Amino acid sequence: MSTPSPIPSFDLVIIGAGPAGCTTALTLADSGLKVALVDKASLPAAKICGDALSGTVMNVLKRLPGDCYPDFLKIFPKTPSRGIRFIAPGGKMLDLPFPLEKDDTKPAPGYICRREVFDDYLQKKVRERTNAGIIENFPVREISKDHESFIIKSEKGEIRCRMVAGADGTHSVVGRILAGHSLNHERYCLGARAYFRGVRDLHPEHFIELHFLKELLPGYFWIFPMEDGLVNAGLGIMYRKLKAGQDSLAARFTEVIRSHPVLSKRFEGAEMVSKIEAHGLTLGPDPKAISGEGFLLAGDAASLIDPFSGEGIGNAMVSGEIAGKIIAEAFKNNDFSATFLKKYDERIRHRLGRELRTSRAVQKLVSVPGLFDLVVKKAGRSRDLKEMLIKMYTDQDVRDLLMSPGFYLKVLLA
Ligand SMILES: Cc1cc2nc3c(=O)[nH]c(=O)nc-3n(C[C@H](O)[C@H](O)[C@H](O)COP(=O)(O)OP(=O)(O)OC[C@H]3O[C@@H](n4cnc5c(N)ncnc54)[C@H](O)[C@@H]3O)c2cc1C
Repeated sequence: MSTPSPIPSFDLVIIGAGPAGCTTALTLADSGLKVALVDKASLPAAKICGDALSGTVMNVLKRLPGDCYPDFLKIFPKTPSRGIRFIAPGGKMLDLPFPLEKDDTKPAPGYICRREVFDDYLQKKVRERTNAGIIENFPVREISKDHESFIIKSEKGEIRCRMVAGADGTHSVVGRILAGHSLNHERYCLGARAYFRGVRDLHPEHFIELHFLKELLPGYFWIFPMEDGLVNAGLGIMYRKLKAGQDSLAARFTEVIRSHPVLSKRFEGAEMVSKIEAHGLTLGPDPKAISGEGFLLAGDAASLIDPFSGEGIGNAMVSGEIAGKIIAEAFKNNDFSATFLKKYDERIRHRLGRELRTSRAVQKLVSVPGLFDLVVKKAGRSRDLKEMLIKMYTDQDVRDLLMSPGFYLKVLLA
């Protein structure tokens, strides 16, 4: 009788090969740990996303080992974006260039890059720079514990490890099984996107456009310009604002581009070159624990999406970096206890907590009738106020100013 082959065993298994999982693996490149990165998909895989990569993403890439940033600048296709165009609920428009004075000599502060391309780039870096094996087509279904090891099961087989990093996105299996998480409907948003060709009047510098339509507040409709005249367009809306069964996201999307007085003209004659596809967003901040005995959660699995902008790739990567560092410390100290790993929650709170709380407050303010219109109107007239907004948008350390009485005094006086 043949003996069954032993279960493959690792120090760490990272579940999910998106930005959070790949960044965790890259941060551990020189740790000497035996790491496996598993994903349910066959890679490279397309993702439902706006495809906008912010300055936070660029900053993490600059810190990662192995020339991640200079090599990112070489990947193709991607479209540089040098600013944001806000359209307030009343229709007033405000352009915020990053930086205020145009400077084409420097790389752009952000890019639009299809997730299939960006995630594939990160996964290639993991293959090149780390000894982590990537196991594709491995949808994790069960996680159990045997003494000090985890056993991770999918219909494809089993693997064993000492520690688990859950980077498996919105409906995290790791979060559900190991942390007992369920979806927080109050902080859950739904987004739908499609690709178009032939949308009119795009910004010449590829500014991303955020249209804060009254019916979507505090969500918005977006148009992100891409290569070859393509755009990624979509909308995000809070789950609680959708009347179950009565209106689908795709129907809302179609209605906006069919009947909105400005957008309908811009989409007239444009060709939709994909399906409209939807996915959920787990907005932060969420007070639930994101670590426990032998495991931690990163990225969307830890609900770290910015609640005002809907941007999650940057924070997923920031949390992946912090996760990698804490995991290395846990192995160095041979301490995988919940008490030790609580450090991870503290560092995430320290690094992202204030920013997420401010964005949540701004998300609420956006819905105050007339306020957004007033800020956009006044900033259009005042360079000073515009500069202040650019600073608040690009520098998380001063974003709190948005909540200060001084800011609103400035708005009134502008
Ligand atoms: C419509 C929409 C538009 C968005 N637009 C933007 C934007 O423009 N810019 C931005 O910054 N953010 C945007 N976001 C948010 C962004 O997509 C996420 O925050 C980001 O992908 C989080 O990265 P992650 O690595 O945590 O998760 P993911 O990128 O979701 O990666 C999770 C990985 O885990 C794998 N996985 C899941 N379950 C399992 C399992 N059981 N077993 C094995 N593998 C599993 C998945 O296949 C996936 O590869 C948008 C989101 C939506 C829905």
